[in-house]
Amino acid sequence: MSVKFAPATMHGSQAGMKKDLKFVPSLPQNLATAGHSIKGGTKFVPTQALGLWVRDEYKFVPSVFGIIDRSAENFKKSYTLDWWTENALFYYNSLLVSAYYGMDIWDFREHYKIPPKKDGFLFVADSGGWQIASQQVKIDPVEILRWQEYNADVGMLLDVPPVEPGTYVSYVDFEKFKKCAAIAKRNYEIVHSRRRSEDLELLKPIHGGSPQEIDYFWDEVKDLEFEGVAFSPKPPVPMGIALQLAYGYDKGLDIVHLFTGTGLNTVPVVVYAQKMFKRLTFDSSSFSVQGARYRSYCNPFYLSCGITFGKSYQSTLEKLPCDCPVCRLATIDDLNSEGSLAGGLIALHNLWITLKYIEHLSVLSRSYTDYINFLNVYSRDEETIKAINFLQHTWDNDFDSALREYGISDREDARNLFE
Ligand SMILES: [Zn+2]
Repeated sequence: MSVKFAPATMHGSQAGMKKDLKFVPSLPQNLATAGHSIKGGTKFVPTQALGLWVRDEYKFVPSVFGIIDRSAENFKKSYTLDWWTENALFYYNSLLVSAYYGMDIWDFREHYKIPPKKDGFLFVADSGGWQIASQQVKIDPVEILRWQEYNADVGMLLDVPPVEPGTYVSYVDFEKFKKCAAIAKRNYEIVHSRRRSEDLELLKPIHGGSPQEIDYFWDEVKDLEFEGVAFSPKPPVPMGIALQLAYGYDKGLDIVHLFTGTGLNTVPVVVYAQKMFKRLTFDSSSFSVQGARYRSYCNPFYLSCGITFGKSYQSTLEKLPCDCPVCRLATIDDLNSEGSLAGGLIALHNLWITLKYIEHLSVLSRSYTDYINFLNVYSRDEETIKAINFLQHTWDNDFDSALREYGISDREDARNLFE
């Protein structure tokens, strides 16, 4: 027997029925008409999407790493495992691919049926600098440029991230840092003189974990003008992100990209800084790597807490705890099945959850009080709140005042922030 409504007079005598009680919302006086609104003037509308979600401002740029090979697969014979074609389960209007992985396919954009340029879609092409640092490969900056010009809307210049090999931690030795800045400068000069396309926005990566380091890198490349800047906080912790963003704001930058990933405690800092720039984007492949490789399925609204499907699945769930466009069609058996389809579905579910989390934060971030109240309960991370307050202080006063207020004056002070 299933009880759908609990009369207010019910007492313990009906306790046996209690386990079936469900919440029944009362109908509001004026029922709003539900529906999807399409913002941003995009010309592209997928035909089958169960969830249509196109925003008028780009924020999060999902990396296709780990999922692009699955995009040719079909789910239930009608849906593709991507977020940009007309048969996607849901639509989102941007992606990032590293030239290092994408350059084998010259016409990458057409090949993967990504909406064409000037069609309301943001294709960001990273340079492969990270792969240079971590895998010691050689890449020609002009070769990358030509591929970016042909395919992308935004391209990152080829840099050499100044991090200790195999880590996300900035060099301790300042001389090594200076060497990376010199190599980056040479690459930026080459691209500056060889660029051809008017269609491609180019962003120059700026590195540094302290005001002095960022200043040094900035001074090295400041005369080479490009459309925007890409910051790469290493390690990507809340105060490291806030420091670089406040620096960019102080320099009056309009277009900024952050290589930060999507940590539960770092995303709120990036989202809060949206108001400081004309366009602030950030990227991550976590949703895809976690989903496609580890079958780790994000709990709705909890990026860092999930359920593992596949061979190690031991849960006794009866249905998926989510009503996203993926989970409305997929079953627990689909997510536990062998083959790459399951990983692709989990990655797309994770992407949806990530996008919803970012959208939720974006709405709340317009009110400092509501934002902090939410984060105090949700993430409960003091460093996140501190980083947001640092940005707010910069916004209300200026960068130098914020540095003084938070006692950051040199490399050591900045390094202590990351301990
Ligand atoms: Zn879902």
